[in-house]
Amino acid sequence: DSKDVDETVKSICPFCGVGCQVSLKIKNGKVRAVEGINGPANEGRLCVKGRFGFDYIHHPHRLTTPLIRREGAPKGLNVDPANPMTHFREATWDEALDMVANSFKSLSAASDGRAIAGFGSAKCSNEEAYLFQKLIRQGFGHNNVDHCTRLCHASSVAALMENVGSGAVTATFNQIEHADVAIVIGSNPVENHPVAATYFKQFAKRGGKLIVMDPRGVGLRRHATHMLQFKPGADVAMLNAIMNVIVEEGLYDQTYIEKFTENWEAEKAHLAKFTPEAMAPICGIPADQLRAAARTFAGGKAGMIFWGMGVSQHIHGTDNSRCLISLALMTGNIGKPGAGLHPLRGQNNVQGASDAGLIPMFLPDYQPVTDDAVRGTFSRLWNSGDFSGEKGLTVTEILDAVHAGSIKGMYILGENPAMSDPDVTHARHALSKLDCLVVQDIFLTETANYADVILPAAAFYEKNGTVTNTNRQVQMGRAAVAPPGEAREDWLIITQLARRLGLDWDYTHPGQIYTEMAKGMKSLANITWERLENEGAVTYPSLSPTDPGQPIVFAEGFPRAGGRAKFTPASIISPNELPDADFPFVMTTGRQLEHWHTGSMTRRSHVLDTVEPEANCSIHPATLHRLGVLPGGSVRLVSRRGAITIMARADRAVAENMVFVPFAYVEAAANVLTNPAVDPYGKIPEFKFAAVRIERA
Ligand code: SF4
Repeated sequence: DSKDVDETVKSICPFCGVGCQVSLKIKNGKVRAVEGINGPANEGRLCVKGRFGFDYIHHPHRLTTPLIRREGAPKGLNVDPANPMTHFREATWDEALDMVANSFKSLSAASDGRAIAGFGSAKCSNEEAYLFQKLIRQGFGHNNVDHCTRLCHASSVAALMENVGSGAVTATFNQIEHADVAIVIGSNPVENHPVAATYFKQFAKRGGKLIVMDPRGVGLRRHATHMLQFKPGADVAMLNAIMNVIVEEGLYDQTYIEKFTENWEAEKAHLAKFTPEAMAPICGIPADQLRAAARTFAGGKAGMIFWGMGVSQHIHGTDNSRCLISLALMTGNIGKPGAGLHPLRGQNNVQGASDAGLIPMFLPDYQPVTDDAVRGTFSRLWNSGDFSGEKGLTVTEILDAVHAGSIKGMYILGENPAMSDPDVTHARHALSKLDCLVVQDIFLTETANYADVILPAAAFYEKNGTVTNTNRQVQMGRAAVAPPGEAREDWLIITQLARRLGLDWDYTHPGQIYTEMAKGMKSLANITWERLENEGAVTYPSLSPTDPGQPIVFAEGFPRAGGRAKFTPASIISPNELPDADFPFVMTTGRQLEHWHTGSMTRRSHVLDTVEPEANCSIHPATLHRLGVLPGGSVRLVSRRGAITIMARADRAVAENMVFVPFAYVEAAANVLTNPAVDPYGKIPEFKFAAVRIERA
């Protein structure tokens, strides 16, 4: 009953990149219910995670005091989060922060700062992401700072930066209201971006032509006019065949190509050999279906292309995105209503954390660390000396460097590499080797099991700060309740550590941090903290202090030399590890509707964990029958890197030679099996293709 609350507070859902605005109902200092409100991305809608996934913030496992590892306590997945005192002891904030600062100072002094690395978080605010990268750069003098974008859309951003000149979406997903054709590829929005999916379904209901492409028969197929269930890893073959048809049948937009692009002749020549007949056996889609999809997309007046991790998480993820960019360019589908490129962002603030410079090769707004003038600008803004112009190490490179002995101290804020990294046994072993591991989080995560010091942080609904969703909408998140015990906001903890490292920081409110950050970011021009407090959301770019922002960009050209976007031809590259007699199945990983990433929040949300309580994988019923396993029985999945035992569900959406494994479950962690091979451009691991064996358990 809405009358039975003390207060309502407007904020943003903390889960996916859709960025739904919520109204939090507070009673006796606790969040009791969540309702959707009229935000620009959700118009009152919420999915099950936003609606019911809030009570984790009041869970008894919340960290409430700083913890220091007991002398001699073994590192490993061996701490009961309900009773961490077997391995840790409580400490005061002063003791814990002094210990961290002293340890980092001595490791830094012995290595010119290079022995320290940081993983920030796409679950923190823009201000916190900005401060975290500033701490590593200003405090230790180099760029070994990254976050989970590396495991998410790094390859998409690499291709967008290369060919379009900007890593963000060219149109908000709501623009599909003005489209008459759309492609959704390598994405399962019905489960992973459920509120965005409602717009896609409404588009199909109005008669829009929806082309769904995925190796799994994802939920959106029920609304599709074309469902291309292609062979895993065959994206480039399929997309090049579709573009071959568009070229051969003269369906491209010559006027747009001449006015806004470069390298078209090379792309055209490259595509000649990718005929539908030649590509059909490679991608598993008959030639006539490839032709039909090409004619449908090119025949539309305005078309959008959406993609997800199914495109990006391959060793050829950058090539996959290059194809999608080329497809949009050749059909003139950028810069007008109902048209555009939209990689659907995963975490609630992965767009903002990337924009804020939480990346080893870029400062805020994707300005290269290798550029002396750019570093000079930030040195002046920070009132400090220069820092290294060498690109830092990425997430997976940092853990390799721990194994090699060159990284000895890590500060991990809100990330869980002991669950989220590929070949997680390698990652866990690296974490156990560190001289000093500091984990700042809301729960004693799997990664915190390896920590020397744990710092208790405030959860999203316990702090103020801005976040940027997949639509480039910068939105204001507001504190609704107090953090438990002595837990503190991340920006405050980072500031208190920075002061102990000798930095002259005096932030007392996130608004100050935002204002400093915006001085170094043209993308935030005209978007002040005060505007966000008053308006709740502004889309960047905003052209004036009263402009709510531009949903579509690049109508007049691109932010590249000469103002032109570029065609970059892509060739077929085989997945890194192909099935063979010992490992005959292809495993792919992902999320489920009810659980978020490594499960630390949603598995502690009562409703969500009740609906989906058990680790599970999806296997075709014919495969289960062949293996002699009943639906609901256990299977053992084995890859070259390890093995897990997990309950098997019968699922006709998964091809007979595949298995789909969600990565939220520590008791059957999908990433024990995944392949750490990376895309050479985006450095993103191949989570979407590993060779495995399935055994009856
Ligand atoms: Fe939250 Fe995403 Fe669901 Fe919206 S769609 S309620 S942002 S999880």
